[in-house]
Amino acid sequence: MPKKTSAAVFLDRDGTINEEVGYLDRLDKLRLLPGAGEAVQLINRSGMKVVVITNQSGIGRGLFDEVFVGAVHAEMSRMLGEAGAVIDGFYFCPHHPTEGIGGYRRSCSCRKPAPGLLLRAASELAIDLSRSYMIGDMAKDVEAGQRAGAKGILVRTGYGKDMEAGSSAPDHIASDILDAVRWILGQGKTR
Ligand SMILES: [Mg+2]
Ligand SMILES: [Zn+2]
Repeated sequence: MPKKTSAAVFLDRDGTINEEVGYLDRLDKLRLLPGAGEAVQLINRSGMKVVVITNQSGIGRGLFDEVFVGAVHAEMSRMLGEAGAVIDGFYFCPHHPTEGIGGYRRSCSCRKPAPGLLLRAASELAIDLSRSYMIGDMAKDVEAGQRAGAKGILVRTGYGKDMEAGSSAPDHIASDILDAVRWILGQGKTR
């Protein structure tokens, strides 16, 4: 029997779920954007999975370590939990092709715009990419989603505030994560 798959909403982290602060290297810099909790809760209720996909080259650059990133994700889960929202998985790329130190310096297949993290999550969590979406504030998020076979949505928070619409070819542009999720759930109704 083939494994039952579900659709997912992949979320970029910084500038999409939480405020863009440059390198998030202290827990007290973690602040959720307005609507993030409600957005994740709406996805939870729809039956789609919610997976965070984030480039964290600060690890490779030696600014913080993988344990710290795990602590950020635990704190994010706690904050979202207060809104009744649950993240099903966190996937991060610690590499950088030129600025990484030691083994972190490499051209990898997981740093967005490469689709590696989405492909890994899809395999581990039984996700049907063709029914899935990637939401992010940068062209590389949209591209990673599309290269994985999902739809890419650009949000106008974080770096997305000043992005030229022509610099990526998103399937949709939304004002923020909640607006994006409402659009996704509306799509489901017309299929
Ligand atoms: Mg971002
Ligand atoms: Zn990587």
